[in-house]
Amino acid sequence: MPELPEVETIRRQLAPHLEGRGLTAVEVLDPRWTAPRAPREVAAALTGRTVLGLARAGKYLIWELSGDLHLLMHLRMTGTLLFDPPADPPHTRVRVALSDGHRLVYLDPRRFGTGHLLDSAQARAAYLASRLGPEPLTPEFTAAYLRDAARGRTAPVKAFVLDQRRIAGVGNIYADEALFRAGIHPLRAVGSLRPGQLQALHEGIEQALAAGIEAKGATIDDFRHVDGAYGSFQDQFLVHLREGRPCVRCGTAVRKLVVGGRGTYVCERCQPRPRSRRAPRRPRPAVADD
Ligand SMILES: [Zn+2]
Repeated sequence: MPELPEVETIRRQLAPHLEGRGLTAVEVLDPRWTAPRAPREVAAALTGRTVLGLARAGKYLIWELSGDLHLLMHLRMTGTLLFDPPADPPHTRVRVALSDGHRLVYLDPRRFGTGHLLDSAQARAAYLASRLGPEPLTPEFTAAYLRDAARGRTAPVKAFVLDQRRIAGVGNIYADEALFRAGIHPLRAVGSLRPGQLQALHEGIEQALAAGIEAKGATIDDFRHVDGAYGSFQDQFLVHLREGRPCVRCGTAVRKLVVGGRGTYVCERCQPRPRSRRAPRRPRPAVADD
């Protein structure tokens, strides 16, 4: 699934092709993409608008359109945008013709991706605020924020990092990479982490995401660039998908666990497993005093 670095890569590649162009024709071929709104209604609302900017929030790609209209695209599992493909690829869901003669195609084999229209900047801000926590790599995401958000929580730290309402844009790949960088086991209760560990987690998240953006994303499933090329971050994974291979730091074999239903990769020497709480002692039988 595309995470923050993959969506940011798409945004950077697509922005110069879209910004300032008009949408001369928009065809939505799949009602699931716009549900509950009708595809025809969404296509009509988009047609004739000019793209003023392309933004990103968490894993959302946001088209800022003339007339204060905002299209929030979420690619979910397998959504892909291709600029000027030679022919319509299989699983094409949306076609967009641009005013300069180029075209853009959205395809999505699994069909979980969505296109959601919002009618004002305020509506967009409210929609995102209810779904997304602070954005990493911006001043709002700090170690102090992590300390406050983690306090008293017993959830495993990996589940916490994956929760979009806590931290925007981190998914399974970058959570594993960030926890490895920080030397924290994914099953540690987030509220039990010491301040120094939360500082390390903050740095690990930012470093993993920045490395992913630098490598133009990771391609492990269907992620492609807008010209069809693939990202290369999968070649730099420190721990993700490395089950049985030696840890890059200590040589111990990387283990695969399941945390919150997600395949999770860990070096249990660099990321010590939390000590299991001792079973409560059986109360001694009461002894009568007399
Ligand atoms: Zn190790």
